[in-house]
Amino acid sequence: MILVVGGAGYIGSHVVKELIRRGNEVVVLDNLTTGHKQAIDKEAIFIKGNLGNKQDVSLIFEKYPVKAVMHFAANSLVSESVVNPLKYYLNNVVATFTLLETMLEYGIKKFIFSSTAATYGIPEQIPITEMTPTKPINPYGQSKLMVEQIVKDCAIAYSLEYTILRYFNAAGADETGTIGENHNPETHLIPIVLQHLQGQRKRISIFGTDYSTYDGTCIRDYIHVTDLAKAHILALDAMLISKGNIHRTYNLGNGQGYSVRDIIRKCEEITGRKANIHYAERRTGDPAILIASSANIERELGWQPSYRLEDIIKTAWNWHKNHPHGYEKGSVRGSYTYES
Ligand code: UDP
Repeated sequence: MILVVGGAGYIGSHVVKELIRRGNEVVVLDNLTTGHKQAIDKEAIFIKGNLGNKQDVSLIFEKYPVKAVMHFAANSLVSESVVNPLKYYLNNVVATFTLLETMLEYGIKKFIFSSTAATYGIPEQIPITEMTPTKPINPYGQSKLMVEQIVKDCAIAYSLEYTILRYFNAAGADETGTIGENHNPETHLIPIVLQHLQGQRKRISIFGTDYSTYDGTCIRDYIHVTDLAKAHILALDAMLISKGNIHRTYNLGNGQGYSVRDIIRKCEEITGRKANIHYAERRTGDPAILIASSANIERELGWQPSYRLEDIIKTAWNWHKNHPHGYEKGSVRGSYTYES
């Protein structure tokens, strides 16, 4: 049994789907503040609760033979973290402390943690490797880096095994089109562009056209959410057979950068629709270029991204076309093993 904390969220729900596809038994813990119940695969057991509540977590470990924990649950809006840092330190750091403490009490010592490129801040070198210094520039990035440090200290003190995965720009949707990206508010570029091209937004704002990049707009490394999910499965498999010695941190990106203008152009091409663009000021805290080197996970776990930008946008468009209002107006049908 694998416990997926935050399995109702965007990335967590895609990982749950991959786990179920290959026959794992999965229990999802999620408080549904940002996640969606309909996103959880109907084969998974769903517990509505908080990772920061010791009783909620203990009940799961009492009842199910959990071998490893994957932790996706977090607040992840950079701008919100700047104005409300305590929310981020509470929900991302303090809550994770309780999860880890309870895991260790029950002797569960295999942990996969969702981290982020935001831990690097404004990097001095591109592509970014795991050796690039971590210097977060906002409380969101700080909160993730703090948890990384806690996890590493627990590894030394309590022989916790961990794999930390630092995601670059997750995008796209499961090929079945049954689950996809549905944030509220939505702040990410690809869903915003697609929502605009669907007629849900009047225009798209490009935040800054004076960056020192080939077209003046920011460059990012977009990675398909299913490729991310597959990396978690490889990490899990390595941990399930290990004898207590896995302590790894990996970047996860495609290794290719696309500008904001590139993304808009590609979305226009795939949808056959024309965007109405508004040029806006830079968004605070946006580095000009973020591109990952994922060479370490490729070499050590044999991971390879299989979706190119075109497929990322096509699968995202498939999801948006069929779920213009996200999960709100019904998407995944089926019954759930619902416990609360
Ligand atoms: N961006 C933009 N307009 C939007 C949303 C995002 O120009 O409406 C830009 C943003 O400034 C960044 C890039 O698109 O340079 C990717 O932003 P996103 O929020 O998707 O991911 P981030 O890289 O911030 O994690």
